[in-house]
Amino acid sequence: MIYHQLALNVPLYSLLTYACPIALPAGTRVAVRFRKRLVAAIVWESNVQPEIDISKILPIETIFSDGWQLPADWRALLSFTARYYHYPLGQAVMAALPKGLRQPEAVPLPRQEMMYTLSTSGRLQPPPPARFHKQHALWQCLQSAPATLQQLKTRHTQAAHYLNQWQQQGWVQTTPVPACGSIPTSQHQLNQQQQHASTSIQAKAGQFAPFLLYGITGSGKTEVYFDIMAKVLQQGKQVLFLLPEINLTPQLMQRVHQRFPHTVTVVLHSQTAPGQRTSNYLQAALGQAALVIGTRLAVFTPMHNLGLIVVDEEHDYSFKQESELRYQARDLAVWRARQTNCPIVLGSATPSLESWYKTQQGDYQLLQLSERAHASAQLPQIHLLDIRRLALDNGLSDIIKQKLQANFTNGGLSMVYLNRRGFAPALFCAACGHTFGCPNCSAKMVLHQHAGQLRCHHCDYHQRIPHCCPECGNQDLTAVGQGTQRIEENLQYLLPNARILRVDRDSTAHRQDWAEIYSRIMQRQVDVLVGTQMLAKGHDFPHLNLVVVLNADNSLYSADFRAPERLFAELMQVSGRAGRADCRGDVWVQTRQPEHKVYQALAAQNYVTFATAELAERQELGMPPFSHMAAIRADAKTMREAQELLRQALQGIEQQQSLPACVSVFGPVPMLMARLAGYERAQVFLESKNRRDLHHSISIWQSWLQHLEKIYPQTRWLIDVDPLEM
Ligand code: ADP
Ligand code: ZN
Repeated sequence: MIYHQLALNVPLYSLLTYACPIALPAGTRVAVRFRKRLVAAIVWESNVQPEIDISKILPIETIFSDGWQLPADWRALLSFTARYYHYPLGQAVMAALPKGLRQPEAVPLPRQEMMYTLSTSGRLQPPPPARFHKQHALWQCLQSAPATLQQLKTRHTQAAHYLNQWQQQGWVQTTPVPACGSIPTSQHQLNQQQQHASTSIQAKAGQFAPFLLYGITGSGKTEVYFDIMAKVLQQGKQVLFLLPEINLTPQLMQRVHQRFPHTVTVVLHSQTAPGQRTSNYLQAALGQAALVIGTRLAVFTPMHNLGLIVVDEEHDYSFKQESELRYQARDLAVWRARQTNCPIVLGSATPSLESWYKTQQGDYQLLQLSERAHASAQLPQIHLLDIRRLALDNGLSDIIKQKLQANFTNGGLSMVYLNRRGFAPALFCAACGHTFGCPNCSAKMVLHQHAGQLRCHHCDYHQRIPHCCPECGNQDLTAVGQGTQRIEENLQYLLPNARILRVDRDSTAHRQDWAEIYSRIMQRQVDVLVGTQMLAKGHDFPHLNLVVVLNADNSLYSADFRAPERLFAELMQVSGRAGRADCRGDVWVQTRQPEHKVYQALAAQNYVTFATAELAERQELGMPPFSHMAAIRADAKTMREAQELLRQALQGIEQQQSLPACVSVFGPVPMLMARLAGYERAQVFLESKNRRDLHHSISIWQSWLQHLEKIYPQTRWLIDVDPLEM
């Protein structure tokens, strides 16, 4: 018997040993029994010396030997990921696979698409008589150039049948469709800065070279990516393109298809149908697809011939997974580029301070696009409107109302942005002061007037709008604050003839909704957009010329040290929507703190000033990126239980004095959002300038928690390395 170490979807930090009469290559998918259930597993190592009684070792039940294994560099990536994020390797491996490959079932490899053409002997044949005009057309098509079945079917619906027949006669031959066919030239000539950026990156082909492409909104970053991608694809290499959201950026996919019409492209994101996702994954792994576009999970796509990685909007938080395996896809992408020896481009108009700092340290090369690409597109003018002494009518000042009215009269497109969906963020009893909180979370319930509900935006909890206060019986409950629905209603009243469209998660619940909204906007069937962050991401609305920002101040009161960075990025992005084409845009921000550094930097539209000041502050406080952090979290039904586990672990560790001296420990403290979905959450922060020491400490914590979890079975714990949530 030969013993193998396998990765299975079980919460164990070590691999499991199974037996097989033959040695299986690492990366092979197999099925084994675990606790009587048949499950999928990946061979990690074969010919191992078993450490347990061999009579207890179970056999490998099925080998899915389809001639393909998960490659060595993929396995190295997953080993690193599991180690870095202190997560069970088997679970990390399964999280990185599409659902089809996680099942203990055979999966057919995707069929290589073929091109058909006449063979030499076919060319000597007389074509089918012209009176069978469809067959005749099909023949002529085969004669002129190689074509895919799809293309040939447009000539004759029964193309497959005739191809089969002619192939048997030896008249038709096939060749695989190349992963990357010809790439048409761009319709734009790169400007000087774009050209410089592209050339600098191209010069590093075949080497690990991380770049930060810092370009203001509309400066043509995408054109730069495409230019480099074209070069890399033409060299026969694959490209991995990561972006925060795909459904919200239909424009990007359109542009990709326009620019790379003959490149086999696969898309991978969480909403790709499971069968499709498996097939896309395998197409990338087998090299049938040259271009892989996807959200964070796509960072785990095996690619055997990777030549370039692009991470667009690299500052976006959605690259960090906030459950289970808490990985940061941008960081793993950089690791992958180093592993593969290829360049990686991180692009943003408001780079993360982590990446910006790396350019200052010389770790990443900074490339800059400082002007808008369209000669006529000017940066918007940003106005801070101090509302401390202004009367607001349902959240809108007179000046804003006038601006919106005037822009409507002049036929412009306006956008009212606020980051709060629903009707009002809270319901309040003016008689006794009672507010309606979620019973499961430390959050107020949001009033959804149309649905007649109070809803928690953090868990599934919802209830009917109460008729009276449960505390004092008062029937006169007040909706406090503004949500998108309420603003939409006010605007309808203010601009009765305007076509107003609300865009938020409630109005785009279905997959097609967003595409429809987008086409209405593009066909100029909308005068005013009201919406949340969904509107801020990556869209180009050429005629948008007025942006109004409401209630952004809320984020300034957050205790999260990253809140200013996040707000600045968000507002720069929203502002960047204005004036993309030939009309100049205006942005009006209603605020009670116009002097705040975030707004000052926004008004000056100066990322560099903001980043410099913010980094100086972080340095003084020893915060990331000047130190590295990890959070050790625990949750339980009560805060006492949650903290108790962490406290016990801390005590045990301190008694042994085993933590490296340069690792500071804070806590246990409740998380900023202490209660979520019925669990009280506490955490301890570990912080160090030295990564190695930090990881060593995490391992110590981990073994203590594993030991203690038997004593506190009701308390769950997890480790979050480089946490974004506080
Ligand atoms: P970003 O990704 O930086 O926001 P885009 O790549 O989307 O910018 O470019 C903004 C707009 O400018 C797009 O409509 C794009 O087609 C156009 N554009 C980009 N580069 C050029 C160029 N060199 N010449 C003319 N137009 C350009
Ligand atoms: Zn809740």
